[in-house]
Amino acid sequence: MGMFDAWAGFGVTFRTMFKKPFTESYPKKPFVTAPRFHGRHQLNRWPDGLEKCVGCELCAWACPADAIYVEGAENTDEDRYSPGERYGRVYQINYLRCILCGLCIEACPTRALTMTNEFELADHSREALIYEKDRLLAPLLTGMEAPPHPRRLGPDEQSYFLGLPPTGTPDTRVASAPKGEEK
Ligand code: SF4
Ligand code: SF4
Repeated sequence: MGMFDAWAGFGVTFRTMFKKPFTESYPKKPFVTAPRFHGRHQLNRWPDGLEKCVGCELCAWACPADAIYVEGAENTDEDRYSPGERYGRVYQINYLRCILCGLCIEACPTRALTMTNEFELADHSREALIYEKDRLLAPLLTGMEAPPHPRRLGPDEQSYFLGLPPTGTPDTRVASAPKGEEK
């Protein structure tokens, strides 16, 4: 190694000494992800609170890490969790296996499964990293009612789905409907 190589190395050090440091103050200052960052999953709901998941297992088949476990079940008029015939009775995502690739959300035919920007998934036990419906289901928004309950947006499947507003348009019908009354 020649003398000039050493001076070239020192040159890098000197140049860096006068640059503004780039320091993330996480976790004191929350880290803001890119809008389309793949974080924790969410199971979405229809505007009346019924679940969008139909228990088809396509997400589980698409997963390259075998991280999803689904068991579907039949809805009945007395015990209804989704507007159609079936719903996801058991839904688990194992975050010890998940690589957050997003293939499962591409496979979902009802957009029941999407991903949030939440990335703080570390925990102290393996069991805690197997998320079930209680942690994956989207929160109930104004006008939504926790299932089981009858379809509030239409008495049968066809009127339920045909009556939905276009994507992105807020639905105000359920919020104004009296509770317990099927529309
Ligand atoms: S994000 Fe990828 S690895 Fe994680 S559950 Fe979905 S398909 Fe599997
Ligand atoms: S999340 Fe989507 S793909 Fe997975 S079981 Fe439910 S409806 Fe099917």
